[in-house]
This record gives sequence, C-alpha cells and structure tokens, in this order.
Amino acid sequence: MTAAPLPGFVRTVRGDVPAAEIGRVAFHEHLLFDLVRPGDRASVDDPPITIENRWQIDYRSNENRNNARQTDRAIAAAELRVFRADGGDLLVDQSTGGLARDAEGLKAASEAASVHVVAAAGTYTADYQDAATLALSVEDLTGRFVAEIERGLDGTAVRAGLIGEIGCSWPMHEFERLALIAAARAARITGAAISVHPGRHPEAPFEIVAILNEAGADLSRTVICHMDRTFPRGERVRDLLATGVDVEWDFFGIEQSHYWFGDVELPTDLQRLALIRALIEEGFGSRILVSHDVCTCTRMTRWGGHGYGHLLRNGPALMRRAGLAETDIDQLLRLNPLRLLTLADGTSLQED
Ligand SMILES: [Zn+2]
Repeated sequence: MTAAPLPGFVRTVRGDVPAAEIGRVAFHEHLLFDLVRPGDRASVDDPPITIENRWQIDYRSNENRNNARQTDRAIAAAELRVFRADGGDLLVDQSTGGLARDAEGLKAASEAASVHVVAAAGTYTADYQDAATLALSVEDLTGRFVAEIERGLDGTAVRAGLIGEIGCSWPMHEFERLALIAAARAARITGAAISVHPGRHPEAPFEIVAILNEAGADLSRTVICHMDRTFPRGERVRDLLATGVDVEWDFFGIEQSHYWFGDVELPTDLQRLALIRALIEEGFGSRILVSHDVCTCTRMTRWGGHGYGHLLRNGPALMRRAGLAETDIDQLLRLNPLRLLTLADGTSLQED
C-alpha cells in the first residue's frame, strides 16, 4: 500500500521502524498472555478446547482457564502469519505487567512471522500484581514505565512502544490510581501514548481522564478502551470525546449479545460501525480506534476463531456497507493507530 509521508518512528520489539514504512495495524491485541488471575493459575482441571466444546467455551469466554491464556511462541508466530496474509503489518500486544508479558517471546514471534509487533509498558489491574509491585510508589512506577520504553521490559533489551493498557477496576484500587499518574508522567518523558482499560462502570472512564489530566497527560495521545461494553449503545461516548481523549471499539469479531463479564448487551460489528459512522460524520474520525482485543484462544484461527486479521479480511466490506469512505477506512486501520504509536523523530526524548 502507498504510505503517506508520516514523520517519526514506531518502537517495535525488533527496533525502531519509520512510521511511513508501516501499513495496517491491529492496535489492541494480546498475543502472549495469561488472563487467569495469579492466584488461580495453578489449577489445571478445566477441559482442553476441542471442536465439540469450543462454542460453549467461547460463549463463556474467559471462564475456562485453558482458553484465557496463550503462552506458546510458535502458536503466536502462526497467528501472526495469518494476520500478515490478511494484510496486517503491525500488531500491538497490550499485555502489561501482571498478564504474563513475554517480551522475548513477542520478539521471537515477530521475527518468525515477519510482522512488526509493539510491546506494552505499564501494569494491568491490581488483582494481577504481586505484593512487591503493589507496594511501589508513584516515583517507582514512573521510573519503571520509563525504563520499559527506553531500556527494556522485564530484564530484557526488548523495549515497549506504548504505555498500557493500564488496568483499572471499579471502584478504582489505590495502586491503579498511582499507575495512572505514573503513566501520565512516563508519557511526558518518553513521548509514548497511553492506553487505559477502564473499570466496568459508566463513570470509570471519566474518573480516569480526571486523574490523567491532573497528572499532566496529553489527552490527545490517550486512548480509553472498550467502548463496546462500557457504552454499548454509544451512551456517553460524546461526553468522553469532549474531554479530549481518543475512544476505542475493540470487541470487533465478537458477534454475540451475551457479555460473559457482566449484565451488558454487546453490540455487533455493524452496530459498532453505525456508531462510528455517526461520529465520523460529526468530525471525530481521527480520534477513533478499532481492534479485536483477542485475549482468548477460541478467538484465534488455531481454535476456530476469527484471528487477528478479521478487521482486515472482513472489516473493509462491513465498513463500506456501514457507509464509510475509503479514506475513513484507511484512517481507522492505519493512520489513527500510527499517529498514537509514533514517537518523536530522533532519540533525545528525555527533555521535560
Ligand atoms: Zn486488552
């Protein structure tokens, strides 16, 4: 595809890549992860996924522990190859600290599949953290997040290119409030953008934005994830956009109404796109992110799922049907994520 002359570079697990060389992006995914809470990880009595039970396991999604983790690098590489065949060029793994983040594994899978991968700095929700992490001060957390972008993740030399998803609960845990402040400070220092997983309450995104704003974050480089389950009919998305943040629909490919984590009626892909089309018509087209947030095996092609390339394989046709123009499609699948992932040109990002 013809790339627009985008300035700056994107920090991938294999090094910095000029943004102008990058094509279509899956902005919010999980490639190597464990979403089982650390205290529950030891138990192994859940049934393995088979062709006979995969629908039921997928329907209740994260309930089966074998479905809620994927730590095999060869499988990650195979899924990335499918993504590449669908036209994908870069995938962001937003598995932050606590989700069994595997920076070397991401690098190995990226190399094996020849697909760019961006890893994530930051921490997930408090219930995924160990006691030592929960005891960190905001200064400690800031230093850690900056080091993850400038030096490497978890003792490796593999660097992160995005801060988040920073995990937040409802009500918010004190650790999560400190992590948000640290994310804001680390973003100021490094130039990296921030992605936030809000708690499952309509007030949660607004509380988060207030904390980030108070801490000096650049809200134009901040994304609030999971509009699909937070405002399933688009309820308060415009209020959220009015604060200055970007908003993300990242349940693409989940074509079921039942939400396994709560009493929410999920939208379908076309319902998501109807909301997005209305926002584009109102001038918000540059501030919308789309992705799948794959975080279960049954959504991967190996287990009969849609894979990381659904939005590239099926998305453009759905988007045209929803009334989007080709320029809108390019904005959603390439330009918007690249703008957020792009760090300043040059390497001296230490000012501030
Ligand atoms: Zn996620």
